[in-house]
Amino acid sequence: MAERVVGGCKCGHVRYEGTRHSAATFRCHCRDCQKLTGSGHSEMLPLEIDTFSISETCKVFEMQGGSGQPTYSGFCPNCGSQLTRRSTRMSDRVYVHASSLDDPAHYAPEKSIYTDAAQPWDTDGIIKPS
Ligand SMILES: [Zn+2]
Ligand SMILES: [Zn+2]
Repeated sequence: MAERVVGGCKCGHVRYEGTRHSAATFRCHCRDCQKLTGSGHSEMLPLEIDTFSISETCKVFEMQGGSGQPTYSGFCPNCGSQLTRRSTRMSDRVYVHASSLDDPAHYAPEKSIYTDAAQPWDTDGIIKPS
């Protein structure tokens, strides 16, 4: 059965839900993710674009992705929480930031990308529960 995912921002203004897309989750260490999250990396979970619904319109910041294609970062216009990431290159899905999930413990990173850009204080490996 398709896995339903729900989440939202810190202030509660924006709520979203959708169904898990089959693509891998990932931990991204690129400088864009570092700047946007104020942390060492982002943790991204893909949802099927056709199933995705969101309660309010996010503010969207457009930037050039690593692939050279436009990438769109969506955040709450009230509290600024990072919520979504979309790319014209992968138009069948929307990525949500794992820590915006109502149940973030449900998330598991499946791969790391842009590990060359990882900060020395931030692990570049995937921690697999044993
Ligand atoms: Zn908010
Ligand atoms: Zn990134």
